[in-house]
Amino acid sequence: MDEGEYLGKIFRTIEKYKLVEKNDKIFVALSGGKDSVALLFALKKFKEEKNLDIDITGFHINIGAIGSEKIAEIVEKQCELAGIKLITFELKKEGIDLYEIAKRRKRPVCSVCGLVKRYLMNKIPRELGATKITTGHNGDDMLVFFIKNVLGTNFSWIGKFRPKVETNNPKLLTKIRPLFFATREENEEFVKNLRIPYVQESFCIYFKEKSRLYEKTNKWYDIFDKLESENPGLKERLLNSIIKMSEYFKSEEQLRLCKICEEPTNSEICAFCKLTGKVRNSDFKHFPES
Ligand code: AMP
Ligand code: ZN
Repeated sequence: MDEGEYLGKIFRTIEKYKLVEKNDKIFVALSGGKDSVALLFALKKFKEEKNLDIDITGFHINIGAIGSEKIAEIVEKQCELAGIKLITFELKKEGIDLYEIAKRRKRPVCSVCGLVKRYLMNKIPRELGATKITTGHNGDDMLVFFIKNVLGTNFSWIGKFRPKVETNNPKLLTKIRPLFFATREENEEFVKNLRIPYVQESFCIYFKEKSRLYEKTNKWYDIFDKLESENPGLKERLLNSIIKMSEYFKSEEQLRLCKICEEPTNSEICAFCKLTGKVRNSDFKHFPES
């Protein structure tokens, strides 16, 4: 797929689902990987081509593991090449040690990392004035998440399987996924052609632990790729179907505010505070120098 076709696909998703509106301040969650950097450049091109009055900021969470400095450097380079300002949040500086938390709570590091990132990706950009947060989740990710949730009879998530997830809760940032219909390969081809540096997904200190999970998950990616090669267009039809299905599962959760951090939660104390409470040095500052 050439650059024009690729961008056309992303732009159609943005327009069809009204992902971007005038005066938006969009924080792009950058992991250093191919998907999120493809998103950064595609969104920047959208802004330029449509001559839109929106603000784009890169947002990276440095998880403080071995290799994280290298990833942070790559993310810096990506933003420099895109001419986009970057805000980095460093877990270690805020007294959040993922490995320590995982050890104490006897939970896999990857699950602690995922939870902490999801929490911060909502809280920090919102406190810095963002109107939306966007992630590099691609169509393949959505299909695999979907099948895993269906198999796990975890239907509550299905309501969120859409390019745009918004609620009436002012403390929950609207999430947008412009790459909802793009495949992993398409994102990779786009960034390779632009010669933008990016990190391989396996470049994570906890990869060993993750690799078992990866193997299982990768099987699903392969299955969908095979189905697509035998039935061209199947992925897109499934994704469209999932969006329609998500309407049936959409519900406005009645959330309260966490007693400790005042972030939205469905219990008295939010999952982040439960997880990090005893390990954190102190209540972390809302944001370092920016
Ligand atoms: P993953 O769950 O690692 O596949 O990441 C999904 C999306 O979350 C990526 O495409 C990024 O948009 C975002 N993301 C993951 N890790 C980070 C990070 N360390 N900092 C900021 N955003 C991230
Ligand atoms: Zn809390």
